[in-house]
Amino acid sequence: MTGLSSFVGTVAGTFLDFTPDPRTGRAMSRKTLQMTDRLYDYLLDVSLRESTVQKELREATARLENANMQISPEQGQFMALLAAAIGARTALEVGVFTGYSALAVAQALPDDGLLVACDVSEEWTGIARTYWDRAGVGRKIDLHLRPALQTLGALVAEGKSGTFDFAFIDADKTNYQAYFEACLILIRPGGLIAIDNVLWGGDVADPNKTDEDTLAIRKLNRVLRNDSRIDLSVVPIGDGVTLARKRA
Ligand code: CA
Repeated sequence: MTGLSSFVGTVAGTFLDFTPDPRTGRAMSRKTLQMTDRLYDYLLDVSLRESTVQKELREATARLENANMQISPEQGQFMALLAAAIGARTALEVGVFTGYSALAVAQALPDDGLLVACDVSEEWTGIARTYWDRAGVGRKIDLHLRPALQTLGALVAEGKSGTFDFAFIDADKTNYQAYFEACLILIRPGGLIAIDNVLWGGDVADPNKTDEDTLAIRKLNRVLRNDSRIDLSVVPIGDGVTLARKRA
């Protein structure tokens, strides 16, 4: 685009996020698309491949008080695809809640695959185990009920550094940096770490938000931007997911 159309496109893009294609008039996305409810429903309709057990777990979790801690179904499917894409056989999960993400990833691991899951809640992971077993992936998931840094530290002590293919971090935000460092040790070169809630409902971009969770996520985001040990992408799916690929 040149001249006037470029100017109009820029102005329209500034206010509407989209620049109309001069030939078709159809909006072309210059930024990430704004997700309306109608478009989100469409996305799920044409792409979601949720098993019956996954759906039932999601519905059971939605009735709990902390239901917003569950990842969205398309995010679960996205992580399962990532795990499959890198040929993951072993995975880490920091923060299990009721087990939806672990279920999604475990289903993507081979029969002899292993997901080491870290959480401290007997109650929530009790729900998780029920659904993992019903889905037939319970034997692939090794759940450790103690602070995750202890479990991750023990894995390092057992000589498991550089052996895991995939990690998902979705627990207490003030420990995110420590979880990331521990996972980076345990992941192999070329392995992938996914970190949840990195856009934190938009609070990370609001300077008036200074609670400790927001500060912790904001700091980690800033640090990872310049971390030469990883390839990086922040994906605006769900509440924002950072993908960090460990460089050789
Ligand atoms: Ca989360």
